[in-house]
Amino acid sequence: MADQKKTDLLIIGSGPAGYTAAIYAARAGLNPVLVTGAEPGGQLMITTDVENYPGYENAIQGPWLMEQMEKQAKNVGTEIIFDYINTVDFSKTPFTCKGDINEYVAKAVIVCTGAKARWLGLESEEKFKGFGVSACATCDGIFFKGQDVAVIGGGNSAVEEAIYLSKICNSVTLIHRRDKLRSEKVLQDKLLNTKNIKVEWNHELDEVLGKDGPKAVTGLRLKSTLDSKTKEIKVDGLFVAIGHDPATEIFKGKLDMDSEGYLVVEKGGTKTSVKGIFAAGDVQDKVYRQAVTAAGQGCMAALEVEKFLQE
Ligand SMILES: Cc1cc2nc3c(=O)[nH]c(=O)nc-3n(C[C@H](O)[C@H](O)[C@H](O)COP(=O)(O)OP(=O)(O)OC[C@H]3O[C@@H](n4cnc5c(N)ncnc54)[C@H](O)[C@@H]3O)c2cc1C
Repeated sequence: MADQKKTDLLIIGSGPAGYTAAIYAARAGLNPVLVTGAEPGGQLMITTDVENYPGYENAIQGPWLMEQMEKQAKNVGTEIIFDYINTVDFSKTPFTCKGDINEYVAKAVIVCTGAKARWLGLESEEKFKGFGVSACATCDGIFFKGQDVAVIGGGNSAVEEAIYLSKICNSVTLIHRRDKLRSEKVLQDKLLNTKNIKVEWNHELDEVLGKDGPKAVTGLRLKSTLDSKTKEIKVDGLFVAIGHDPATEIFKGKLDMDSEGYLVVEKGGTKTSVKGIFAAGDVQDKVYRQAVTAAGQGCMAALEVEKFLQE
């Protein structure tokens, strides 16, 4: 039988939201237990240069930043456990969360399970991830300043990313497999009126083309969705903008979610639909999706937990 761990505060997830919540909670004397999940450090572990996290003169490496956060959380008194939560019972207090290794019983829980970008699943996409292929224009757009890039998708995110990139890059090609975009009309008008954005209608990505040593993207092979004919275009970067999936499967039916599965929190705060359960970071934020906003929400959640436990 699994060991039982009792704690005032359980934090689920070890990305910027989870570690920041842990730092604040530990410093407030709450002795938090943090469960890392299968990806200790979260999404920043799969990137290289991070240039927009404040406090550093030059670009830092994502995995290094997460290692610092982990050490800081540990140093101020967080118990960090490598475990994965499979089921939760939020119907009565104290709350129970069952992991692969332990069962956790907690007076309050902060959910920081994050989200994952959707990818197309091509081998060449995987090969060039972080070397010209990205899923975040805000994070990586600057690395393609003055260059030619492409964006895949047809919804609001893809159109917004294309418009954002058009201000930094020489040209942007939006690749969409249909002849109509799904995004809001106002965004479509803006996109179609931006001089350096071109749309490749009725095309999908067939292959990312690139070179080794140093690894870099040089172009894309596109396939027509009408007649399967292929053609190649030259680009230096590719942004895949086909959506994100929040890691909320285990909270279905237990916490309120929106139609896309993001946890719903009280406006301007981190309280979920269950008193005593809080949510921070990409698991509840589909707008900003940044390390610094996730960290900020982690801080907010810890401060709200402190108040909740005092009450
Ligand atoms: C390639 C890439 C590059 C990026 N670059 C930048 C950048 O330059 N600057 C920037 O600000 N942002 C960047 N981002 C975005 C940033 O990484 C995210 O906004 C941020 O990591 C979100 O933090 P989070 O704590 O909410 O969740 P995440 O980082 O997604 O972490 C989620 C955590 O939850 C854990 N977890 C999930 N399910 C469970 C479970 N059932 N039980 C236990 N644990 C669980 C996971 O193991 C993980 O540790 C980038 C993202 C990607 C993918």
